[in-house]
Amino acid sequence: MDKRTVGILGGGQLGRMLVEAANRLNVNTVILDAPNSPAKQISNSTEHIDGSFTNPEDIKKLAAKCDVLTIEIEHVDVPTLKTLTSINPNLKIYPSPETIELIQDKYIQKEHLIKNGLKVATSKAIEVPSVESLSQVGNEYGYPFVLKSRKFAYDGRGNYIVKSESDLPDALATLKDRTLYVEKWAPFTKELAVMIVRSIDGRVFSYPVVETIHQNSICHLCYAPARIPDSVQLKAKLMAENAVKSFPSCGIFGVEMFYLENGELLINEIAPRPHNSGHYTIDACITSQFEAHIRAILDLPLPTNFTSLSTTNTNAIMLNVLGEAEKDGELKTCERALATPGSSVYLYGKESKPNRKVGHINVVSSSMVECERRLQYILGNSAELKN
Ligand code: ATP
Ligand code: MG
Ligand code: MG
Repeated sequence: MDKRTVGILGGGQLGRMLVEAANRLNVNTVILDAPNSPAKQISNSTEHIDGSFTNPEDIKKLAAKCDVLTIEIEHVDVPTLKTLTSINPNLKIYPSPETIELIQDKYIQKEHLIKNGLKVATSKAIEVPSVESLSQVGNEYGYPFVLKSRKFAYDGRGNYIVKSESDLPDALATLKDRTLYVEKWAPFTKELAVMIVRSIDGRVFSYPVVETIHQNSICHLCYAPARIPDSVQLKAKLMAENAVKSFPSCGIFGVEMFYLENGELLINEIAPRPHNSGHYTIDACITSQFEAHIRAILDLPLPTNFTSLSTTNTNAIMLNVLGEAEKDGELKTCERALATPGSSVYLYGKESKPNRKVGHINVVSSSMVECERRLQYILGNSAELKN
């Protein structure tokens, strides 16, 4: 259907699911990442590049093989991306290198959002990390506050929740050699997320607002739609759309938010790529976040409502499958999910390691109560599942 080739920087699970969506449309994909990475495992192309999305030469090799370049991770070498169109003026890069640059440093991202009138938690850069400078922050922000790496953060690795002054030496040791900023604690009642897709001509389409539940700063569950009043859904959707419109780019974006005790919404962070909170879209929406991204960056049709839930009464829960202490122990959860109506299992072809995201499970039903009942069975909390 489309003879263009999409190059993907990064071949993890997000790349793998992008490849799956592209395959269904006969869109060729070429992956840059380590040999046998999850995305390469499901595509038999001989064109893949073994290397790193942070290595300029590897990125140039990838660019030489494709018409459109995209990313599944924002921690890529932006200066190299900026040089590519002078080598090949026909190459398209989505999201734009400027957008990746604004987002990959989380502190610059926050400054950008503030400049564009969006609310975020109060934060400041830490030029000289020391017990003295951070205890001043503790006096000003109160405890807990969060010490955060500006770059290369994921799954909370890069964050340290400072509960009291006595945590400071450990916080500094844990995040040593990283550029840091500090953030005020956001007293949230729920965490929300919205996937937004933006077309090349600037139209935005939003997926439903969802609710994410984290454990140890790693996404554990995602409820779609979020169990919040309609007025908050609407506010979150508009805020996410405005945030995405502030970046010069197109494709899929994930917008993470805090819904505070006082009813206020703050943006936590934005991902310029498919996002864990959008995995439910594969089974619960008309078009998945992965297909939406492929369509957007190739300028393929994006019809009205293509980001809606499949039906008006579709409900879904996504459960992340993390590696357990016992290698492959998590597969028991997956086996229970296979035996559960309305449930789909996605494994990423990654080696099982404790707390590593190795897969996810989508549970879909016309009622959230039923999704929850099925989830409890999958989690091993209820012995029997009557269909
Ligand atoms: P991701 O995997 O989403 O990219 P990350 O490593 O970039 O994660 P954050 O999104 O900054 O990390 O934080 C991870 C989680 O830690 C948040 O989803 C939230 O649960 C908690 N958290 C982060 N910052 C704050 C804050 N200022 N106040 C309260 N909780 C926070
Ligand atoms: Mg992040
Ligand atoms: Mg996050």
